[in-house]
Amino acid sequence: MSSPHLPAARLPYPYREELAVLAGLMQGLADNVDWPAAVRTARPWVQAVRDKPAPFWAMESLLREYPISSAEGLALMRLAEALLRVPDAETAIALTADQLGKAEFDAASGGPHKMLASLSASAIALSKKFLPESDGDAGLFKRLGAQTVVAATVRAIQLLGRQFVLGRSIKEAMGEAAAARKAHASAQRSPTGDSGLRFSYDMLGEGARTEADALRYLASYLNAIHSIAAAKNTAGPEAADGISIKLSALFSRYEDAQRERVFNELLPRVWQLIEPAARADINLTIDAEESDRLELSLDVLDALSSRIAAAFPQWRGFGLAVQAYQTRALQVVDEVARIARTNELRVMVRLVKGAYWDGEIKRAQELGLAGYPVFTHKHHTDISYLACARALIANADVIYPQFATHNAGTIAAIIGMAKAKGAAYEMQRLHGMGEGVYREVMRDPSIPVRVYAPVGEHRDLLAYLVRRLLENGANSSFVHQLSDHAVDVDALLASPLVPATSVGIAPPAALYAATGRVNSTGVDLACIEERAPLDRAVAATTVPAVNDASPADVDAAMARLQRGFTPWNATPLAERAAVLRRAADALAARLPEFCGLLVKEAHKTLGDCVAEVREAIDFCRYYADQAEARLQTQALPGPTGESNELHLHGRGVFVCISPWNFPLAIFAGQIAAALVAGNSVAAKPAEQTPAVALRFVELLHQAGVPADALALLHGPGETIGAALVADARTAGVCFTGSTAVARLINRTLALKDGPIVPLIAETGGINAMIVDSSALPEQVVDAVVQSAFRSAGQRCSALRLLCVHEGVADSVIEMIRGALKELKVDDPALLATDVGPVIDADAFEGINAHIARLRAQATLIGEAPVSSTFPRLIAPVAFELPRIADVTQEIFGPVLHIVRWGGDVSAVIAQINALGYGLTLGIQTRIDSRALRVAAAARIGNVYVNRNMIGAVVGVQPFGGEGLSGTGPKAGGPHYLYRFCAEQALTINTAAAGGNAALLAGLH
Ligand SMILES: Cc1cc2nc3c(=O)[nH]c(=O)nc-3n(C[C@H](O)[C@H](O)[C@H](O)COP(=O)(O)OP(=O)(O)OC[C@H]3O[C@@H](n4cnc5c(N)ncnc54)[C@H](O)[C@@H]3O)c2cc1C
Repeated sequence: MSSPHLPAARLPYPYREELAVLAGLMQGLADNVDWPAAVRTARPWVQAVRDKPAPFWAMESLLREYPISSAEGLALMRLAEALLRVPDAETAIALTADQLGKAEFDAASGGPHKMLASLSASAIALSKKFLPESDGDAGLFKRLGAQTVVAATVRAIQLLGRQFVLGRSIKEAMGEAAAARKAHASAQRSPTGDSGLRFSYDMLGEGARTEADALRYLASYLNAIHSIAAAKNTAGPEAADGISIKLSALFSRYEDAQRERVFNELLPRVWQLIEPAARADINLTIDAEESDRLELSLDVLDALSSRIAAAFPQWRGFGLAVQAYQTRALQVVDEVARIARTNELRVMVRLVKGAYWDGEIKRAQELGLAGYPVFTHKHHTDISYLACARALIANADVIYPQFATHNAGTIAAIIGMAKAKGAAYEMQRLHGMGEGVYREVMRDPSIPVRVYAPVGEHRDLLAYLVRRLLENGANSSFVHQLSDHAVDVDALLASPLVPATSVGIAPPAALYAATGRVNSTGVDLACIEERAPLDRAVAATTVPAVNDASPADVDAAMARLQRGFTPWNATPLAERAAVLRRAADALAARLPEFCGLLVKEAHKTLGDCVAEVREAIDFCRYYADQAEARLQTQALPGPTGESNELHLHGRGVFVCISPWNFPLAIFAGQIAAALVAGNSVAAKPAEQTPAVALRFVELLHQAGVPADALALLHGPGETIGAALVADARTAGVCFTGSTAVARLINRTLALKDGPIVPLIAETGGINAMIVDSSALPEQVVDAVVQSAFRSAGQRCSALRLLCVHEGVADSVIEMIRGALKELKVDDPALLATDVGPVIDADAFEGINAHIARLRAQATLIGEAPVSSTFPRLIAPVAFELPRIADVTQEIFGPVLHIVRWGGDVSAVIAQINALGYGLTLGIQTRIDSRALRVAAAARIGNVYVNRNMIGAVVGVQPFGGEGLSGTGPKAGGPHYLYRFCAEQALTINTAAAGGNAALLAGLH
């Protein structure tokens, strides 16, 4: 199979203007979609479904009673997501109490589902009676009562889950399918016995994180295909049951960045499934996943299609799903048709609207992308669906369209369109959804319907269940509105063919619009157009040499900076802020160039480089805004005849000493804050990364910082840094680096005569993550791998100590071991690299010495493979230790220490506090009150719940610790600038010249 090395984009740019894309989709649609006719068809379906509402225990009923926007609905969803996987009684009780305790299930309200309400109310009443207030100790009696409530809740959630899962095993699911088919055929009185009902089975589970997971899914898919094939008794994939597969389940690194491995490892695996499916002539459909895999998925389709064309040219059952909510959906259809035609195949295409809309929006905002890859109005997705349907039908020679939707209006419009063209097609629904509407649709026996049927055990269904709860519960969802009788039928079936006049969600650049600040723009590394400038810049970068300063240079620079301080301090605040904003814009324009430098000088991976340049841009804009908001002169109250004002101004020459691990972001943040407050700045970058600093200082000068207000003094900390700190003219020091050096600086400053100057120190930490047994192991492992190993563990915020509850420790540790094996440790300039080298030979030796010690004293969990010969690579590694107190020092590299815990979580946080550091903490739990309790007890600056614990964002997660981790105030936070200022209270006796004129004039 060919593996395209440098692929060209098949699809247009994902972030084109939404309304322009819509205009293109609308062309010709009005002539092909007869919406009034669709409404005439759909209205009786809707009426029939509403006349015969779902039973009280059905999902729709539940979500109508307790929408997910309510505390009760959210509680139900969160219990559904977590409770079934919790292994120990204490945690299950705490979780149930936590979630049920928040909700007010009201039996007295009556309503159509009184019985459910009263059932829930008794559960709540019981839980409130028996469950402890907090998740701390509860007496035996109480616990017995609590366990009863938990058992009932578990049972309720199992029943909830069963609505969406056809069977626990493929055998059970096929049995259910056979029964459903039979019931349907007899209801239809089908003369042929063909009910028109088909199934596509889906084996449930989270995406694979390890090779073992992937192989387990492969075996499960294979088993399912063999079972489906053995039971098949009809000809052709259209009439037979089939299978749906997720590529992310078959390979833990199904990502654009791992293209090479996708072709070498995933494709052969998919081929193992294709062979038996093709031999049995059944439908095998590849599910659609997130948008950053869209191009890749088409490359995979192309490669597989050419192989199918050679091996199984007659097979017409290969297929994939296409999501209409993608702004590129129509071009995906065109591309699929092109691939099919080139290979002389007929493929099956399942058109869906898309299941990951919320995730797509969040990702785009987090990465500061140029726009959203999906539509931002629900009815735009509907328009796109109809446009794609039209395109699929137009390509009937190479595509068999399968329309998956529960929306009555969409179904009727599609059926109308297909019938008008005489096209072959089928409709599809998810098991447990849209049953009412399809009961009506299938009264027409000429319409074949396939049910997507998830198969799996309870523990595997949780993520799927939550997706469906969200889908059924979302206000915009058709299924939700159908069950809500307050939405009238006309509104329910309103034509979508009316594009909005503006976008539905402000673009990522406007994330901070409420504060007036522009968000920095990131790069979508999965988008070839966006990545190419970065690749070119990295290739073109040479790192300039920077001369060390001499002690004489320090002396001259300090004299110059002291002279420069007065005029710069007198420069109006607005102008100083404007300089920073110009610098931010210039940096944004030169992002690729700075990324090139960061890769070559600091050995950072591309993703880390982009994030770092963005952070520097954000610092400049944020401090410019903060200065204007906070450093203006404030009028103060006082007696008549007197004016009182508070003025803030620069302190003098500020010495800024920054580390190599964020040679641009931290360097820029310190300098920007000091400058905008009115100080002149002596900037001392890390010895390892002077070139990034040089270029940024040049940029600041070009943006308007006077030559005498900022000087770059490169050289060793022991000499240049020490001389700067010791200089009598130094009015303040801002330092980020090790605790040991911070102490040295502190002592030097203390020994000096003259003014006592402030020190802002941001130092390291033994950062911990506490995982309890309600956490989702896959989410934990993702967070652990990113927090501990990204940037080769060379972040002050990096995870060093993982404290995992004994109830889930074995499985979490096993998954970490597997995930470590999948990491790519190599040259940071390569897109595929997850972990690059450590910064220098000293670091390399120090970290290796620590690892050698741990090999002798601790239990090795696992380590990443390293095959590259790139210098100074250290394999990310994890060890288990008996006690938290065994971790005594911060190791600034990709080394993770793991400790198990049991009992009360308060004891764990107490031990973490006792380490003395207080920088970052991760908490992984579904028990909200526990997360808040742990956070409140933690003497730690940045606490992250249920996510990774790195990558603090300026103005969003102000960053910095306490104790051994630093002095504060937090960088990127609202209190930072004050520490760079001196204050003056100006009081003027306005009555001095003979009397209080204002008072006498009545101006009081
Ligand atoms: C058989 C079958 C297979 C499926 N396979 C896949 C698959 O492989 N991959 C996948 O991603 N999904 C898949 N789905 C899930 C599918 O995407 C959802 O069930 C579907 O989106 C619901 O659409 P609807 O027409 O039933 O409902 P509707 O309520 O008419 O539409 C909901 C759609 O609108 C979107 N939406 C909501 N708000 C907005 C907004 N503000 N702007 C833009 N769009 C918005 C939602 O994301 C959703 O896509 C499958 C569904 C079925 C029935």
